[in-house]
Amino acid sequence: MTQILDGRTLARTCNKAVKVKVESLARPPGLAVVMVGNDPASAVYVKRKGVVADRLGFVHRQIDLPADTSQAKVEEVVRSLNDDDAIDGILVQLPLPKGLDSAAVVDCVSPDKDVDGLTIRSIGYLAQGRQLLAPCTPWGVMKLLALADVNLSGKSAVVIGRSNMVGRPMAMLLEQANCTVTVCHSRTTNLEEVVRRSDVVVAAIGQPKVVQGSWIKPGALVIDVGINRLDDGSLCGDVDTEAASVNAAAITPVPGGVGPMTIAMLMENTYKASCARQGVSAG
Ligand code: NAD
Repeated sequence: MTQILDGRTLARTCNKAVKVKVESLARPPGLAVVMVGNDPASAVYVKRKGVVADRLGFVHRQIDLPADTSQAKVEEVVRSLNDDDAIDGILVQLPLPKGLDSAAVVDCVSPDKDVDGLTIRSIGYLAQGRQLLAPCTPWGVMKLLALADVNLSGKSAVVIGRSNMVGRPMAMLLEQANCTVTVCHSRTTNLEEVVRRSDVVVAAIGQPKVVQGSWIKPGALVIDVGINRLDDGSLCGDVDTEAASVNAAAITPVPGGVGPMTIAMLMENTYKASCARQGVSAG
C-alpha cells in the first residue's frame, strides 16, 4: 500500500503546536505580508496565510500595493516593516509584477524577519547548515518526508527544478540529510534516467504530470511541489500521481500535500523569529 503523505493533517498538527506555544509569549508574533498587484493565484495564497495567522493568534498585517508601484516604494514599505516592532516576520508575495526586481526587494527584508528564508544572508546560512529560518516550502517537504519514517542517509535523491525559492534550497536540505542529490532542470537531457534511479523524487517544475508513473523506482518517496491548474479548473501536480502510486512507497497528494505545509512552516518561522526578537527560547 502506498502511504499518502497527508500535508493537511501534518500542517494542522504543526499549527496546533505553534498556537499553544504562542499563548505563553509576552506578545503575539507579528506577520506582515506584502502583496503587489492582483495576481489571482497569489491573492488566494495570501488570503490563506492571513486566515491561518489569525487562527494562531498572530498579529497579521496585509499590505496591498497597486501593480504599478515603483521599485523604490516597494522597498520603502519593506524597510518600514523592518523598523516596526510589532512585526517579527515579513513575507513579500512572489512573483512581483514585471518590471520589479524581486531579488532586490527580498534583500531589503531584515534577516531576523526573513520568515520566507529567501534573502542572500538566509540562503548563505542555509548553505552552511546553520539556518534559523529555512525556506518554507523545502522545510515543509523535509517534514513530509519524515512522515515516511525512512532514514534518508545514503539515499539517492533528485530535485527537479532549480529555483531560488524551491529547487536550490531543497537540494541543500536533502544533502544535509545525507542524501546524494542530483538537480535536474529544463536543460537536463536524461530526466527519466535520473528519476528511475532515485530513492527520493522532489518535483518543483510547474508543469502538469511531467514525471511519469513508470519512471518511479519501486519503494521511492515522491514529493510533488507543483501546483498546476488544468483547463477544467482542477489542480494537479508535476507528477502523474495515480500512475506513480503503483511503485512509490509514499507520495504527496496535490492539493493537500506540500501547500498546507508551506503555510505551516511560515507560521513556525514567524513564531521562531518572534521568540528570537523577544529573547525567549522557541522551545
Ligand atoms: P520556477 O518556474 O521558478 O522554476 C521551475 C523550475 O523547473 C526551473 O528551474 C526549470 O529549470 C525547471 N523545469 C522547467 N521545465 C522543466 C522540465 N520539462 N524538466 C525539468 N525541469 C524543468 O518555479 P518554482 O517557484 O520553483 O515553483 C515550481 C512549482 O512549484 C510551481 O508549480 C509552483 O506553483 C509550485 N510551488 C508550490 C508551492 C507550494 O506550497 N505547494 C510553493 C512554491 C512553489
